Formats: sequence, C-alpha cells, structure tokens
Amino acid sequence: MRRNRKLDYLSTKEILLRVFKYALKSKALLLTSLFFLIVFSTLEIVQPLIIKKVIDDELTGISTVWVKTDESKKSILFNGEYYQKEDFDNPLAGDKYTIRIYGSEYLLIHGVVGEKDKIIEANDLVVIEKDNGETYTLEYLRLSKNDLLAFYRASVDPIIMMIILYAIISIVILISRFIQHVTFTSSSMRLTLDMRKSAFEKLNRLPIDYFTKEPKGKTVTKIIYDSEGVRGLYQVVFSVCSAVFSLVMIYSGLIYLDYRLALITLLALPFIYLWMKLYRNKINKYNRSIREMNSRINGKLAEFVNTVDIIQIFNKEEQMANEYDEMLKKNYRTKIKHLNINTLFGFDLLNLFRRLIVAGIIVYFSVQYFSVATVVAGTTIYVYIEYLEKIIGPISDIFSNLNSFEDSLVSSSRIFEFLDEKEDTGLGSVTGVKFRGDISFQNICFKYDEDNYVLNDVSFDVHAGQFVGIVGHTGSGKSTLISILERYYDLEEGKILFDGIDYHQYSKQDIRNNIGIILQDPSIFEGTIKSNIAFGMDVEDAEIENILIKIGAHKFVNELKDGIHTKVVYMGENLSTGEKQLIAFARILLRNPSIMILDEATANIDTETESMIQNALSVLSKSRTTFVVAHRLSTIKNADIIYVMDQGKIIEAGTHQELYQKEDGAYRAMYDALS
Ligand code: ATP
Ligand code: MG
Repeated sequence: MRRNRKLDYLSTKEILLRVFKYALKSKALLLTSLFFLIVFSTLEIVQPLIIKKVIDDELTGISTVWVKTDESKKSILFNGEYYQKEDFDNPLAGDKYTIRIYGSEYLLIHGVVGEKDKIIEANDLVVIEKDNGETYTLEYLRLSKNDLLAFYRASVDPIIMMIILYAIISIVILISRFIQHVTFTSSSMRLTLDMRKSAFEKLNRLPIDYFTKEPKGKTVTKIIYDSEGVRGLYQVVFSVCSAVFSLVMIYSGLIYLDYRLALITLLALPFIYLWMKLYRNKINKYNRSIREMNSRINGKLAEFVNTVDIIQIFNKEEQMANEYDEMLKKNYRTKIKHLNINTLFGFDLLNLFRRLIVAGIIVYFSVQYFSVATVVAGTTIYVYIEYLEKIIGPISDIFSNLNSFEDSLVSSSRIFEFLDEKEDTGLGSVTGVKFRGDISFQNICFKYDEDNYVLNDVSFDVHAGQFVGIVGHTGSGKSTLISILERYYDLEEGKILFDGIDYHQYSKQDIRNNIGIILQDPSIFEGTIKSNIAFGMDVEDAEIENILIKIGAHKFVNELKDGIHTKVVYMGENLSTGEKQLIAFARILLRNPSIMILDEATANIDTETESMIQNALSVLSKSRTTFVVAHRLSTIKNADIIYVMDQGKIIEAGTHQELYQKEDGAYRAMYDALS
C-alpha cells in the first residue's frame, strides 16, 4: 500500500524502525497492551457465537431428536412420559421421536427424520420427502403451546449458563479494553517524553553555529510539535496493526462460521483496497496544502508578533490583518474540501457497502428452501451481520489513520533529522584546569561560508592580566574573533594557544570555564536577580550583595522593590541594557575566570550607567586578562593595548596615546568622529 517514498531525510521504513526502537523502551507497557488487545479481539469474535449456540441448540433446539427414557436430570415430563434430547455422541437407548415445524405448528413425530428431509403432508400420518425424492410416512402428534413449554424446560439451565458466560465475557472485554487503552496511552506518552528528552539533550551537544543557521523558532517547533508527531505515528501504526489483527480474527471467525460467507466477504477486499488508494491520493493533496498553509499562517503570526512595534509605527496594522485574514480564509476553504472528501469516502460509503452485502446475503438465503435448515442459517446470518459490523470498525480506523499518517511521517522525519545533526566536537570532560591568562593568536583565518574571509591572518599575543581593547567598524570581525576564542566555531587555519598550549588540547568546557563573557545583549533568564547571578551555584545572599557592592551595582539593585530577589522576566525585558550588563558582570565575578571578554553594546546608555559599567569593568579587569570590544572608545582609553580591526585584519595596534598621535590613523579618525 505504501510506496517507500524518500522523505526529506529518512525513508518510511527507516522512520518506522526508529519509532519502534523508541517504543521498545517501554516494552512492558507495549506487551501488556498487545496482550489485552488479543484478549478482547478474540472474545469479541466468540460472543456472537455464544448467542448463536443458545438459539441453535436451545431456543430452536427443541426441533431435534428426542428419546423416551427414564427420569433423569436432563429429562422432561410430557403426557406422563420422560423424554430427553438425543446425545448424538453417545446415543441413548429408547424410542426415538423428532420435533419438527410444519407450517406454523410443531409436530412430535415418532421416528427419526433426517435433517434435510421435508414434510410435505400431515393428515393421519406425516408424509416426508427425502433429498432424492423418495417419501416415507410416520405417526405423529400435534403439540400445543403448553406441550411445547414442557419441552423447552430442558433448555432453561443451559440458557442460564450461557447468559452467565456471556456476561462474564462482556466484563472481561470491558476490562481488557480499558487496560489496553491505558497501557497503550501511557506507552505513547512515554515515547513523547523520551523523544523530547533526547531532543533536549541533543540541544546541549549541538555546535553554536547550528543555532545561528537555524531559526530558533523552528528548533522549538521541532521539539514540541514534531515529538508529538512521532507519537502520532506510533499510534497510527499501532491502530493499523490492531485493525489488521482484528480483521484477521474476524475472518477466522467467519471461516469457522461458514466458509462460503467468508469467501464472499473476501471478494470485497480488493474493492476496499482500490477505494482506499483513491481516497489516499485525494486526501493527501489537501493534507499537504493544509500543512503548508498552517506553517505559513504560524510564520505570519510570529512575524507580526516580533515586529509589532515597527508595524504600528508605520501604521501597517490593517494591511497585516488583511493578509492574515486572507490566509485564514484560504485555509478554511481547503479544510472544507478536505471534510467533503472525508464524508464522501468515509463512513457513509462504508456503511452503504455493508448494507448492500447484508441485503445480498438475505436475498441469497431467502430463495433457498424454507425448512429447519433455514432457522439455523438465520442464526448464521445473525453472526455474520455482527461480524460485518465489527469489520467496519477496523477498516474505518485504517482510513482515519491514513489521514494523519503522512503528517506524522513528515514530523518524525524532521525530528530524527534533528537528532542526527552533527554534534559539537571537542566536548570532553571538565578537568578543572585553571588558565593563567596568556593567549596567543597565530595566523587566524576564518570564514563562515565558502567565499569571504571574515578574519584574515590575525596574529597577536596577550599576556596574563593585560587589558586589551578591540575596536573597528561594524562588521569588521570583532565578535567573530571572540566566538572563535570561545570555540563556538572551530578553526581551520591558524592556531590559538592558551598559556602556550594549543587550545585543541583543552575540552570546550574547560575553555568556557576559564572565560567569562558578556555579550552585546546579555542573556537573562526568568527568575530573580540573584538566580541570574548565581546561575546554578549555591551562594548566600551576602556573597551576592558583596559582589554587587564591589562592581558598584548595589545602588540600582537596592532601588528595586525586592532587592536581589526582584523578579526578572525572560530576556530581561524589564531591565535596561546597562543593568543587564551589570548582572552579567556580577555573574562573572562570582566565578572568577582568568579571562574576561566584554562585547560592548552599541546601544546608547546614559552617563550614569556608563560610569557604573566603567567602574565594574575596572574592578573585574584587575587580576585577569580582559578583552573589551568597544563601541564607546572611552571604555578602552585605559587599555594596555588597543587593536584596530578592519575587514578581518588588524590594521593598527598601540595604546590610546600612541594611536591617537598618528595623524591619519584609523583610530584617530574613529575617535574624532565619536567624540
Ligand atoms: P559589530 O561591531 O556590528 O558587532 P563585528 O565586528 O562584531 O560587528 P562580526 O559580527 O564579527 O562583526 O561579523 C563580521 C562579518 O561576519 C560580518 O560581515 C557578518 O556579516 C559576518 N557574520 C557574522 N556572523 C555570521 C554568521 N553566523 N554567519 C555568517 N556570517 C556571519
Ligand atoms: Mg559584534
């Protein structure tokens, strides 16, 4: 049924195998679920057979051979004589009688009447015709309603037994279904949980450049929605498998019931298959366009939320709203078409199909002769119709699952692709090495993509404890140089040495432990000011306050309502850039690394904050190697050495005084332009 379509990344088979591997993690749940699935599917096949047995053997079962015997537990009393149903396996001794329907009357015929033999007359004697046309006559008695009741008495006990059995089976089915549902749902929830866990752990092992290439929103979607997709796929596969299993069980029941009926029903399968293919083709087209449209609608919404300030400034609200509205309408129209196809191909047609089969079967049996055999056939038809009813369930299950199969496959493919992403190399165990702070850049060349070098043969040495300023126009490669130092990107040309040792000899964690970095827009997490400074370390309030005093940030913190316990929101939207930088400074001072890097924000900050930062910087730069990428040149006026970068190269180096003295130097030009 499924071609092995090559999806973006994995083939359908590969995806299914991997989902299966994940599912096996909760093996016990899965096996329990399967076990109870088998239990209730089997019992559901048995149930109609019990009813059939009650009707055949007991309700219409008086129309059989009876033997005149002595009184016993199984015997009934009629006209002062005891009769018992013939046990065909161990025939009883005694005179034999047969009860048969003739017209609307029951006759007690003295003698054995063959099952296929037909009564053609009942006057003084009954005249009976055999299959081959021969006739014979026997004595008989008409049975009144009261007489009949006497014969039915033999059936009371077996019927009660059967009813009890039926009830027990019903209860077992109910319980099995419940356990099956609960265990399966738990196992599928476990699956989502495991997927999300794997994906989250993966995040920590991805190289930083993954996040610069991939939009962050997309990664979030992957982890949240696509892991649901894997669960969807798991459910689809399980439902289809259990539907197929049910079908097999029902067919076994049918074959046991009447192989001819089973064959007739089997004939329907090719039609159902063809129709399923047709449906799948039609519905996939709409599914795909709905999926695309949904992601575009989400994208539009995200764009709107992210740029709402600009949109309002430019008064483009209405235009955006119209565009969004148009998309929603289009999506709505496609969904309606999708719904129409579902209704057309879905249950209604399936039900029509079933009714046609039933009608056909009834017509077939009606044209057959009317005799005892028909009554038996009647119960067979009853069971058959019950089975047909049961067939519909699994088939429509398969149908509705086909619908989401494609979506789930795409989702699963995406998340597996994510899990297979190339991981960061060079992550090792933390050895706790402490750098002195000597750094040597040797012929660093670097490019993000194939063509342009962003850094071009950069070489310079920094001594432990030095204060290094880096300046340059925007895009000259300053931040890139720092990213390389942190090993966010791996060097292909050139070398970096820490304390005279190639930085590849250290694990990335060791390097990052030794470097404190304050980025242009420091990351602030949801929590309090304290939790953002401690950032996972177990420290006393006093120590935090001490640090804040050292860097001179206590003034701004003390002005806040709850001091260091003031709540901050994600990304620090309720803090100014300067305040965020102060928190980042405190975070670093607490850890006391040997190297510190400040990538200064371009944003203008007020002079008071500026002097706070200046002050903090001078505290922190003591006793550690400090890099400051400066936009406000006042920040680095006191630097031991300033490097001026332009187009990935160092074009000037020296102290502020030295550089400012060069009349036509780049530094001087920048300095004059900024002040
Ligand atoms: P600014 O003063 O504005 O912060 P900068 O000197 O820090 O500028 P970089 O961020 O190092 O400049 O960028 C140097 C060049 O590399 C720029 O041309 C930029 O477009 C490019 N670049 C930066 N980051 C990436 C990236 N992740 N992928 C591709 N190119 C990048
Ligand atoms: Mg930068």
